[in-house]
Amino acid sequence: MEIKAIRGFNDILPNEIGKWQFVEETAREVFEGFGFSEIRIPIIERTELFSRGIGEATDIVEKEMYTFTDRSGNSLTLRPEATASMARAYLEHQIYSFDPVAKLYCIGPMFRYERPQKGRYRQFYQIDAEVFGVENPMVDAEVIIMLIHFLKKVGLENLELQINTLGCRDCRPKYREELRKFLATKSFQLCEDCQRRLQTNPLRIFDCKVESCQEAIVDAPKVVDFIDGECQKHFDKVKGYLEMAGLSYILNPRMVRGLDYYTRTAFEVVSYQLGSQNAVTGGGRYDNLFQEIGGLDVPGIGFAIGMERLISLLPKEKEFIQYPHLFLAALGEEAYGEAYRLINQLHLEGIRAELDYEAKSLKSQMRRADKLKVQYVLILGEEELKRGKAVLRNMTDKSQEEILINNLLETLKSKIVFD
Ligand code: AMP
Repeated sequence: MEIKAIRGFNDILPNEIGKWQFVEETAREVFEGFGFSEIRIPIIERTELFSRGIGEATDIVEKEMYTFTDRSGNSLTLRPEATASMARAYLEHQIYSFDPVAKLYCIGPMFRYERPQKGRYRQFYQIDAEVFGVENPMVDAEVIIMLIHFLKKVGLENLELQINTLGCRDCRPKYREELRKFLATKSFQLCEDCQRRLQTNPLRIFDCKVESCQEAIVDAPKVVDFIDGECQKHFDKVKGYLEMAGLSYILNPRMVRGLDYYTRTAFEVVSYQLGSQNAVTGGGRYDNLFQEIGGLDVPGIGFAIGMERLISLLPKEKEFIQYPHLFLAALGEEAYGEAYRLINQLHLEGIRAELDYEAKSLKSQMRRADKLKVQYVLILGEEELKRGKAVLRNMTDKSQEEILINNLLETLKSKIVFD
């Protein structure tokens, strides 16, 4: 039986990889320009890092983690997100002892056992950026500005920045209680999951996609009406800084984000091209995460961009495939030897050259060159070779000229359009 990939796990094929590389390179360039450094963290961590960090009563921890016991009996989990691991690394390696402020980014796969559908996979890639060690709302705005700048730089349009505040450990319990009381009166409308959430974590009900649950929360109390003075001040400053930077935003009082560790600022960037899975990226502040996982009191803020969703939004007209520059069509054994010598030389010079390995006819070699969308074909015939020459065919305007093989490199470098 043919072995296929697991459901929800995707191959990223050579004809798509250009987009991925472009997005990753742009992220590196933009983030490093904002003073961020890359960090690479393991794909597997101890399960308790996520259960404590993300929160026991979240969808991720309750039902989406790939958790298993290793041969020594340790409970391990494929990372469902990167923030908790980055925070663990910051504590474990005492990155704060060099400078308490750390600006870090990380690119890689995450794993969640969700129901696969368009835009939702079990292995998916995220680009994460986090700032640890700053409480100042200035940095909330800075992170959002970097995010929007990056999304625009890769070519995204029709984006909407939504922001909200989630309060803090002091003011959120009061809100949670009010929400619970309100939703208890509507409990007959709630789905089975939300009945349970009503007891464990009523804020999660905002994320439920079931229509009757959505109806139940229409008039629910808003967190912004319950936050304390400090949280209000923080939120006002974030909005002020965004306005100063000329960024427009929409207040979305129903955005609560799926993870427990968020405090104060929460944000999402949504696209209206994506159907139901319309959040390209989400993030926020998490001033209690560090205490949950390790004791130190370190504030943090960051975001995670879903790469599959981002890539599905890239401008369609942009060309991402790297075609070979040149095809070497050789006729006869001697010409093949020369083609072999030349192709090795050209590769060392960064010219993407291709050769037919099966000594086919000129016609079939030209057909392949056409399919590969090369810019030029160098036809090496025995006759021309004797005179130290070859024919260079421009595949765009179909013109041909004889060139000196000795000058091949300079000739090609002056003609090829490099991407
Ligand atoms: P989260 O870590 O849940 O805040 O998600 C951040 C971003 O990751 C989302 O906005 C999505 O773009 C992306 N994302 C989350 N879960 C999935 C998934 N199962 N499949 C594909 N992308 C995802």
